Amino acid sequence: MQRIGGKGLSLARRLYTSRMFGLVLGLLCVGAAVIPLNPPGWLLVLMLFNAFAWPHLAYQLACRSQSPYHAEYRNLLVDSFMGGFWVAAMQFNPLPTATALSMMAMNNVAIGGVRFLLIGGVAQALGMGLGLLVFFPAFIPRTSALQMYACMPLLTLYPLALGWICFRQTHALGRSKRELLALSRTDSLTGLLNHGAWKDALDIEFQRCQRQRRGGAIALIDIDHFKSINDTYGHVAGDRVLRQLSKIFKQNLRATDVAGRYGGDEFCVILPDVPLAHAVKAMDALRDRFAGLGYEQNPELKVSLSIGLAAFNPMHDDATQWLNDADLALYAAKTTGRNRVICHADGLVQRVAMGEA
Ligand code: GH3
Ligand code: MG
Repeated sequence: MQRIGGKGLSLARRLYTSRMFGLVLGLLCVGAAVIPLNPPGWLLVLMLFNAFAWPHLAYQLACRSQSPYHAEYRNLLVDSFMGGFWVAAMQFNPLPTATALSMMAMNNVAIGGVRFLLIGGVAQALGMGLGLLVFFPAFIPRTSALQMYACMPLLTLYPLALGWICFRQTHALGRSKRELLALSRTDSLTGLLNHGAWKDALDIEFQRCQRQRRGGAIALIDIDHFKSINDTYGHVAGDRVLRQLSKIFKQNLRATDVAGRYGGDEFCVILPDVPLAHAVKAMDALRDRFAGLGYEQNPELKVSLSIGLAAFNPMHDDATQWLNDADLALYAAKTTGRNRVICHADGLVQRVAMGEA
């Protein structure tokens, strides 16, 4: 049964192309060195098999294997073994020998590092050993002009192809890394920054405010009675409310504001470069808009927000103290009736805006 998945299948696909390409170019190089030596017929058949049939066979073996990755490693060792064998068959003709051995070494080190380079070297030596047993040991010290030209395609085109494959792989890896980093900083339900990423942004904003002696505010926002929304309407409805709130953020905040999900039903926003009075207005408008939202699936559902705001205070040592101020203000909003904005400024918690409790 042909497997269509498994670890290393993409490696097998990549090697399939590069092996086909490399072995056809290799045939020119080896053929030019072997044919003048009047080889037996079976050797010519083997040469053609190696160049034209082996890449397809190797690919099929990898695809059908439980572990295409390990199968490809075995295939690469066969490549190295055969390379060593052809070197002996060419009677160590200098340029074709150096070309074949160095191309295989480049392949092996690119795929398996120094360790695989050494293992491949052993396979090459074994191949050479077999070649020496089969053929009369001999050394041809000179490469003819024709043989030199026959090596040129392999010498020039194969490194180019391998370099291109490596470049594409590095490019794809870089993209995956960026995607993973973005995922690790994003809350999957709302698409906002997650707790850790938002705290990082807060640290940066705190340092910026300190450095530039500029003001700013942060808001901690908590959905009122969210547990009973879950209990009454179900968690799916609860999730919908959380997503609605993130949508409200995206629609109402400035591009420079940084919203995150602090955890559960608690959200957080950095509002850079705004006086506290403006931040209060913006947050109260947001609270008002959210309170007015209707939910198609649950028309009777109304949800309110409690918001604690805190202005940047140059007397604070770190961002945690700034966050504590906002937390105190949020606590005050919760304990004085919910559905309101309360801010913390100059060490005082003040009620500044409220909806109907
Ligand atoms: P308060 O008005 O004092 O804020 O009360 P509350 O019920 O909103 O607060 P509480 O902390 O008691 O409950 C928060 C609930 O949020 C509890 C938890 O099950 C729920 N919750 C946390 N994360 C999620 C989530 O991703 N989806 C849903 N649907 N619920 C969540
Ligand atoms: Mg809550």
